[in-house]
Amino acid sequence: MKIVELQQVEKHYQGVKALHQLDLELKQGEVLGLFGHNGAGKTTTIKLILGLIGATAGQVRVFGEDPTLPEARHLRQKLGFLQENVAFYDQLTGLEVLQYFARLKGVAKQSCLGLLEQVGLSAAAKRRVKTYSKGMRQRLGLAQALLGEPKLLLLDEPTVGLDPIATKDFYRRIDQLKQQGCTVILCSHVLPGVEKYIDRALILGQGQLLAQGSLQDLRQQADLPATFHLHGEDLVLPEHLAAQVQSDGGEQQLAVPLAEKMTTLQQLSGLPGLRNLEIQMPSLEDLYTHFIESQRAGEAS
Ligand code: ATP
Repeated sequence: MKIVELQQVEKHYQGVKALHQLDLELKQGEVLGLFGHNGAGKTTTIKLILGLIGATAGQVRVFGEDPTLPEARHLRQKLGFLQENVAFYDQLTGLEVLQYFARLKGVAKQSCLGLLEQVGLSAAAKRRVKTYSKGMRQRLGLAQALLGEPKLLLLDEPTVGLDPIATKDFYRRIDQLKQQGCTVILCSHVLPGVEKYIDRALILGQGQLLAQGSLQDLRQQADLPATFHLHGEDLVLPEHLAAQVQSDGGEQQLAVPLAEKMTTLQQLSGLPGLRNLEIQMPSLEDLYTHFIESQRAGEAS
């Protein structure tokens, strides 16, 4: 069964077309990165999946059910949600906050201490939330989202405020959840480093699907070049490559279509004077920028 299925989904708010004909399918254990500029429609997509709002047109199914229907309330037990800019009752301790949410979700409160430990908040469990740093509040938000071992986890900007090690720990935890069969959707503006933790990316621009697929799929769709960084003395490149070379400080850069990467590598490997060579593939950030800018250029023309 598909865990999430959106078919031709439209969402309009008074005069604003927040989503336009969006299709999305997610299988069990998939991790999807949902990316887009401010106002692109990411939070709207998450709210539709949670059943907090209904679609203007099209169909939303979560575990095969329409999440807005009263009879689909039981789905909430299977969902974990971390909203952007999470806020808690400041006068309660971290443990009390988590126990409060556990009660709302019908989860045994005995699991709360273990969850606080998982997010590195054991030592602060009995301190009031008003004394927590921004990153600690975010960790508490994550613990709340993980209550009850959700089967579908929706995370809006989960790494905001987390330091680099906490961010790595967070992604390791996502990997573990994936191995246990949990499906994850995460929205983030922080793209560097995310690619190795997601199976697929979906890029939204002004409510429209601009691209969807694995990193490899997106590279093929975007057709951005691979860049060779060449280091060495008095390099004399084959004539057809020499015309494409640009010098930048002590290195020479050569951009070639992805399909020509291996042939170029073979041509360069025996080059006299070549000391070192690095190949830079288009990153998720490069691809994101490409798709967003292509949409803008299309609108301007
Ligand atoms: P951000 O990265 O800034 O969080 P987002 O991709 O999550 O942005 P959404 O919050 O989904 O974007 O908003 C998509 C569009 O819908 C925006 O133009 C926004 O102004 C509009 N919108 C969202 N909620 C409402 C609402 N309740 N009433 C009117 N317009 C809304």
